[in-house]
Amino acid sequence: MVSWIERYNIQHPEKFKPPFSISTLRLAKNCPFAYKCKIDQCKATEKKSFNTMVGRAMHEMLREIGVQIRAGALFPIAKQIAMSTIDKPEKIAKRAAAYIRQIPPLVFDEKTYFEKELNANVDFTSPGDFFVGILDYLRISGDEALIVDYKASGWGDYTIQQIAYTALVAANYPEVNKIKSFLYIPRENKITNELVFSGPEIDKAIYQLNVFIEDTLRRIDEEERWRPAPTISCQSCRYRHLCPIYTSTSIYEMDEEQLLKRAKELTDELREIRDQLNKLGGIEETPGPVTEDFSAADVTMKLTELGLLEPFIEAGAVKVDKRKFKSMLKRYKIDINMFIKDD
Ligand code: SF4
Repeated sequence: MVSWIERYNIQHPEKFKPPFSISTLRLAKNCPFAYKCKIDQCKATEKKSFNTMVGRAMHEMLREIGVQIRAGALFPIAKQIAMSTIDKPEKIAKRAAAYIRQIPPLVFDEKTYFEKELNANVDFTSPGDFFVGILDYLRISGDEALIVDYKASGWGDYTIQQIAYTALVAANYPEVNKIKSFLYIPRENKITNELVFSGPEIDKAIYQLNVFIEDTLRRIDEEERWRPAPTISCQSCRYRHLCPIYTSTSIYEMDEEQLLKRAKELTDELREIRDQLNKLGGIEETPGPVTEDFSAADVTMKLTELGLLEPFIEAGAVKVDKRKFKSMLKRYKIDINMFIKDD
C-alpha cells in the first residue's frame, strides 16, 4: 500500500502527526498557529467553559449508558446508573443529566454504539490507521446507519466532520448503503444539519473528504510562518494563552518603553503590509491622517474585534484576496495609511 507521504508527495513529514482526526485537520485549515501548538504538544489551557465541562460530563454519561446496555440493562435503568455514577461537581452533573433526559427519541439498543472509535486508510477502501474518528452516537441497522454528534453550541460549520464520519462508517461497515447524520445541540434541544447519503452519494462524500484532506495536508506541508488566524473559534481555543494575538499585555498595563516597542513592531508590520499591497496595486498612496495617540496596538485590537486581522495577516503572506480585502477596508472606512506613522 502506498504511504500517505508518497501519495501526497509530502516534503516535510515532521510537520505531521498521524493518524489524523477531522478536528486536527480542521484546526490546521482554520489556524496554522493553533495546529503548530497542537503538534508541538504545547500545554493547552486547563481553563474550560461551563458548557465544555457539561459537554464532557454528557459524553461520559452516554459512554456509561452504552456499557450498561451492552451488559443487558434496559435503557431507563442504564440511564439511572450512568447518572448516579458520574463524578462531577453537582451543578455540572445535574445539567448533563437534564440534557440526557431530553435527548431526542433515539433508539438505544445493542445495535447502538456510543463514543465509537473508527479508523480507515486514506482512500477508505479498507480500515487502517491513517484517519480516525470518535462518533458520539452510531446505530447500524441492516443497511442503514445513523450518526449523531452532540455539540455544545450551534455555531460553526461541521459539514466536513459529518462527511468524515460518513466515510469512516462506509469503510468499516460495507453492508451499509444509507447513512444519515445530524448534530444535536442539547442546550437548545435542537437537531440541525441533517444529511443523508445513499448509494453513489457515499462515494461522492468520500471523494469530497479526500479533496479536503489533500488540500489541508498540502497547506501544512508548505506552511512556514505558522501565523495565527483569528476567527470566532478563538473564544474556545485551547492555545489562546500562547497566541501572539491575545498574549500581548494590554496597552493600559504597559510602561512607556513597552508601549513604544510594541507600537513600533506593529507599525513595522503594518508598513510592510502596506508596501506589499501597494506592490499588488491594492492600496492607493493617499496621505492619511497620522495621529500620535492612536497606537498600533489599539489598531490591532480593533481589527481583531472587527474580524479584520485575518486579511491583514494573509496580506503579510502575500496571499491576500485583493477584492475582498479592499471591500473590507471600504466597508469599515479604513485607510491603512492612517495607522502608520512614518519615521
Ligand atoms: S486564539 Fe485564535 S488566532 Fe490564536 S491560536 Fe487560537 S484560534 Fe488561532
